[in-house]
Amino acid sequence: MTAAVDTKATGDELWGSFAGEFIQPGDVTYDEHRRVWNGAIDRSPALIARCRGVADVIAAIRFARCTALPVAVRGGGHSYPGHSVCDAGIVIDLGLMTGVRVDPQGRTARVQAGVLWGELDRATQAFGLATTGGFVGHTGVAGLTLGGGIGWLHRKHGLTIDQLLSADVVTAEGELVKASATENPELFWGLRGGGGNFGIVTEFEFRLHPIRPAVLAGPIYWPMAEAPALLRFYREWIAEAPDELMTIVMQRRAPAVDFLPAELHGQLIVAVTCCYAGAIEDGEEVLRPLKRFGSPLLDLCRPKPYVDHQSMFDAAYAHGWHYYFRACDVAQLTDDVIDVMVEHGNRIVSPVTTVGLWQMGGAVARVDDSATAFNGRHAGFTFNINGNSKTAEGFEAERQWARAYWYALAPHHTSVYVNFLMDEGEQRIRQAYGYAKYERLKALKRAYDPTNFFRLNQNIPPD
Ligand SMILES: Cc1cc2nc3c(=O)[nH]c(=O)nc-3n(C[C@H](O)[C@H](O)[C@H](O)COP(=O)(O)OP(=O)(O)OC[C@H]3O[C@@H](n4cnc5c(N)ncnc54)[C@H](O)[C@@H]3O)c2cc1C
Repeated sequence: MTAAVDTKATGDELWGSFAGEFIQPGDVTYDEHRRVWNGAIDRSPALIARCRGVADVIAAIRFARCTALPVAVRGGGHSYPGHSVCDAGIVIDLGLMTGVRVDPQGRTARVQAGVLWGELDRATQAFGLATTGGFVGHTGVAGLTLGGGIGWLHRKHGLTIDQLLSADVVTAEGELVKASATENPELFWGLRGGGGNFGIVTEFEFRLHPIRPAVLAGPIYWPMAEAPALLRFYREWIAEAPDELMTIVMQRRAPAVDFLPAELHGQLIVAVTCCYAGAIEDGEEVLRPLKRFGSPLLDLCRPKPYVDHQSMFDAAYAHGWHYYFRACDVAQLTDDVIDVMVEHGNRIVSPVTTVGLWQMGGAVARVDDSATAFNGRHAGFTFNINGNSKTAEGFEAERQWARAYWYALAPHHTSVYVNFLMDEGEQRIRQAYGYAKYERLKALKRAYDPTNFFRLNQNIPPD
């Protein structure tokens, strides 16, 4: 059992202005607040400091420095390896900071660090606007943005970081600084892909884009047996795709959900989920060949509200299940890559295990590679291989399956998206950034966090 921190003994003056909540072992809500999205992570912090604003974040950082305990920072709590909770340390939880202010004329939004993507989408779509965001509504804006941010709009508008105009950051010294193209530009460079290594972002300012309330979007399903032909067709079809079209190929067992007919439940399927961020009639034209390919089991790709599409997969990645994850980028969907997908896709056992093959390119690749710390702008596709189970039972087998799938793709790996890493060690983090960016990030770390105060993350040590 983790001991609580004696906040009194460590200096009342630091907490004088703290307007948030302290939660410690033994408190009735302790278990609720120590839990993160990934149910396979079970850690017991000594203190959870739930901040209501910038002053609370400053107080929490200064307090944590006095204790020398490890510090975890939590936005939406969706880190796959569970970086937003720690044993016997302090969690600085930003979940109460949920303010969003949209400027419809200026097409910008100011977003506090505890906001989730579903909340931001609702706030911006009220004005017919949106920014590139994650495809599951309960994911945090903060952690996703700081790693790069891919989603249904990235081919049309670029990564989430390409929409970032400025960020308010509390440093390891407890100082509030602004980062933008004109203020602390090197910090601004590093925040766009470098994760939580340099400070706690309390507020983000994003550019927004007009997105029609209705988009042509949703999955089309085929039996897994059609995957070899479908994936070869898909490869040719997307080669000419306009930036408005973004697709994710999914492999899984059809879930037992209301919108799928009962006879499909549990069957191995391959789906192409689409989002056409343009005129519906144009999207219908672009999607026609896909919709006519082979014998789809079901076509749910139809005009629907953008916010509905953005929350469509929320239930498929429920809180508390056990999640294991491996990821890699590949340059092309070669025959060899397709063979791996078919072989390992056919071995899926768990009803909640999924594979996502994300289409990249478009506006992502048109931003100068050196403009941000994010690496992998020229990847053709990003794989995420989720070995999941609802409880601990069967989880080890899913982990082994995910590892085997990932190893089979090893000859084709190019880069890897840092937000899709588990705890895989420094070498993999170096690979994620590439040599030059990693060295530049280390120099930034030395400038902003020389003691590596923020180290429970995809860590870039200062030395
Ligand atoms: C269900 C699911 C769907 C996903 N979908 C996508 C997707 O569509 N696109 C995509 O790009 N990624 C996606 N991801 C990956 C996602 O980007 C990362 O898991 C990300 O870390 C989640 O952010 P969070 O704020 O919820 O996480 P947290 O666990 O709260 O934070 C993760 C890490 O980010 C850092 N951090 C968080 N908040 C702050 C802050 N305010 N200041 C400084 N550092 C901070 C900390 O280092 C922390 O350890 C998904 C993940 C999940 C679990």
